[in-house]
Amino acid sequence: MLNQTPSFDTLGRRVDYLRISITDRCNERCLYCMPEGFSDWKPRGEILAYEEILETVQAAVQVGFKKFRVTGGEPLVRNDVVSFIERLSKIPGVETIGMTTNATRLAPLAKPLREAGLQTINISLDALTPEVYRQITHGEVQPVIEGIKAAIAAGFKSVKLNTVLIRGMNEHEIWPLICFAAEHQITIRFIELMPVSLSEMLTEKNFLPAGEVMEQIRGKDELIPLNEVRLGHGPARYFKLPQTEATVGFIGAITNLHFCESCNKMRLTADGKIRPCLGNHGELDLRDILRRDHSLDDLVHVFRQALHEKPPEHVFRDNYQPQRIMTAIGG
Ligand code: SAM
Ligand code: SF4
Repeated sequence: MLNQTPSFDTLGRRVDYLRISITDRCNERCLYCMPEGFSDWKPRGEILAYEEILETVQAAVQVGFKKFRVTGGEPLVRNDVVSFIERLSKIPGVETIGMTTNATRLAPLAKPLREAGLQTINISLDALTPEVYRQITHGEVQPVIEGIKAAIAAGFKSVKLNTVLIRGMNEHEIWPLICFAAEHQITIRFIELMPVSLSEMLTEKNFLPAGEVMEQIRGKDELIPLNEVRLGHGPARYFKLPQTEATVGFIGAITNLHFCESCNKMRLTADGKIRPCLGNHGELDLRDILRRDHSLDDLVHVFRQALHEKPPEHVFRDNYQPQRIMTAIGG
């Protein structure tokens, strides 16, 4: 029988959400995430095999983790992702499985992923105008739109859009994106730029605070807080726009000083490290343990240690310098 106990860190935060990066590779090059021309991928042998990830999840469940999100890099560029999701969904104690994707390859995979047990999907969409989308991601927007429609048709429990705010690039896309989300009856979240990549564009000049976007929206509609409803697993704040009939969230990791108080997550990096906080360098290695003679308890022990070491808050405001790009850590 599953011996699952709730997992709390030293600050009493219940940590039950693990984001799993299954690859550091990506088919796009978003300005804020991956330096242009980047192709310094980790050798395949350094990336956890699916079997190793599944065993890690079994250990995570023992520590009280229940919610899992598959991400990357771009998770849909890794082979056999559908059968991986199916195996993940069969692990006792895994309650929800989500995915974060750029959706460029989602259209043909949406239904198989849903049938395999994927429940929720978050799709990155920084612009609707093809030229602006191309400028930010170096990719094409049309396959992404088709991926979004396929996800809605596949009947996921939730489909959300994620838009990273970049001053001077996508301010004019914000309102059309809100209308697009409302038209398709899906939630859209605006994410403040974070210093999580080695990219040169992560400057103050390009930073667009969530508060400024809220003011922009208030010029067109009301923002009614949805405090009572928990629409996601993380610290996003959600609002209803009554006239537009849109639901909008804000992930203000930089300007919201209470952001970390409700943090409930950890990350498993593509190369097998537990990262208790995105905005702190600390990591605990699992891969070495996975690749030698070991028991599930050895992995459980590392998760408990990670809970113990989870920092109170990110240090993004303290001139934080990422030592490796976000795709290796897992967004
Ligand atoms: N490739 C997938 C995608 O783009 O959705 C999953 C991985 S991506 C690293 C996960 C999320 O992180 C995306 O929503 C992306 O927009 C966001 N992200 C990446 N770099 C960021 C940055 N510097 N600041 C804020 N969000 C960022
Ligand atoms: Fe790729 Fe996602 Fe990073 Fe864009 S945000 S480069 S799609 S991993």
